Amino acid sequence: MDSSYLNEYAHSADSNALFNGAPLTGQQKELIAKVDEYGVKWAERAFKHDLEASFPTENYNDLKNMGFLALCVPKRLGGLGADYRTYALVATRISYYCASTANTFNMHNANSLWTADMVDALELTSEQRESHEHNRTIHYNNMLEGKIYSQPFSEGSGAAAGKHPFGTITTRSGDGWIINGKKIFASLSGSADYYGVLCTEDIPGATLADTMFMAIPADAPGVSVVGDWDPMGMRGTVSRTLIFKDVFVPDTAQLMPRGVYIKAASKYPHMFMTLTPTYMGLAQAAYDFAVAYLRGEVAGVNVKRRMYPTKQYSIAEMYIKLQQAWALFHRATSEFKRSPSREERMRAYACQYTVMEYCAEICSAAVRVCGGQAMLKTFPLERMYRDSRCGALMLPWTSEICIDRLGRGLLYKEGERDD
Ligand SMILES: Cc1cc2nc3c(=O)[nH]c(=O)nc-3n(C[C@H](O)[C@H](O)[C@H](O)COP(=O)(O)OP(=O)(O)OC[C@H]3O[C@@H](n4cnc5c(N)ncnc54)[C@H](O)[C@@H]3O)c2cc1C
Repeated sequence: MDSSYLNEYAHSADSNALFNGAPLTGQQKELIAKVDEYGVKWAERAFKHDLEASFPTENYNDLKNMGFLALCVPKRLGGLGADYRTYALVATRISYYCASTANTFNMHNANSLWTADMVDALELTSEQRESHEHNRTIHYNNMLEGKIYSQPFSEGSGAAAGKHPFGTITTRSGDGWIINGKKIFASLSGSADYYGVLCTEDIPGATLADTMFMAIPADAPGVSVVGDWDPMGMRGTVSRTLIFKDVFVPDTAQLMPRGVYIKAASKYPHMFMTLTPTYMGLAQAAYDFAVAYLRGEVAGVNVKRRMYPTKQYSIAEMYIKLQQAWALFHRATSEFKRSPSREERMRAYACQYTVMEYCAEICSAAVRVCGGQAMLKTFPLERMYRDSRCGALMLPWTSEICIDRLGRGLLYKEGERDD
């Protein structure tokens, strides 16, 4: 056989074979240690918030006291200056204690992470740079003061998956904008001070390029939170529906200059992977619970069950999945960059899929291996099991969308098609 295809394909293996891992920095270790100081309290409060489907306000008071509401605000503007990977590592540890807190904290941080270095590295006019610096300073100062931001994008259409423009519309009006529309699954609804909303500029023939990213004050006239919230999992996220009816916001509400969101989204695919840490931390928490439980070290059930071969086998399988997920997680979060290679983009999808699916599988296996008593609401495991089911559903990178993009992306090069 003519094996000349290997001349090209051997180099595609480079991307798998050659990887210099990124060890943890001093700042990353410090921030994670800070989370550990508070985490047990969050884990204890999680029972109540899950039962009531209520927002963990006390945890956010802690995050405020820790200075973490400015976690991703650049240091030169007063924040802790966490970059993408630092945010990802810290978020896994928050989720280890309370997954709903991490899930919502992701929404808050996306507003600073996406608007800091990422925007600075894009091609902007000097006028855009100036207005962006002005606007983001206002929003970063709000975060420094302890204001909470959320990120409601979903509309129940294909928009959040990037299929067509958002149905929420913003219309120029004097020196500001009027916003009309509806967002579903708005985590932090009723608890955020600002809603960071993606909407479409009201111009003829608007496309995805006309997407705008606006911070809408929760108390602005015309903003309302509607509907109930009684979901299976992630109940503490309180993700109700938001309605915007002729809501006026000033020009400074722009979290990115006009036309920049779509550039950021195409240059930085990893920006849509910021919920992955929540489910990575949750998988670790479920695994650790199972080990502690079988060793008889969980308060309330101190019978050892570790001596049964079937338990040992199950724990070994869970551990292998956990390690696979962590390995991909560390690699993909270390590969965050502007314009990543095709291989790096594919690996990000593979990471998102693996973490979301394995998290659910590990939580499910933990319920089976621990047995009946562990499923009672006095323990966290049945909540973890329910919470874990939400990861694969998160747009724009649901598990199905990841598979879809991987399948096409791996078999077709840029611009290729079959006639
Ligand atoms: C606990 C929780 C908190 C959330 N918080 C937020 C939030 O703060 N902000 C926010 O914006 N959203 C949030 N979401 C919403 C989430 O990101 C999704 O938008 C939501 O789950 C989609 O629900 P849907 O029924 O409209 O899904 P649909 O859009 O109808 O999709 C259903 C399924 O079809 C598949 N699918 C959809 N489009 C495609 C496609 N183009 N190609 C292939 N498959 C596709 C996907 O697998 C998807 O899971 C949250 C969701 C949950 C569960």
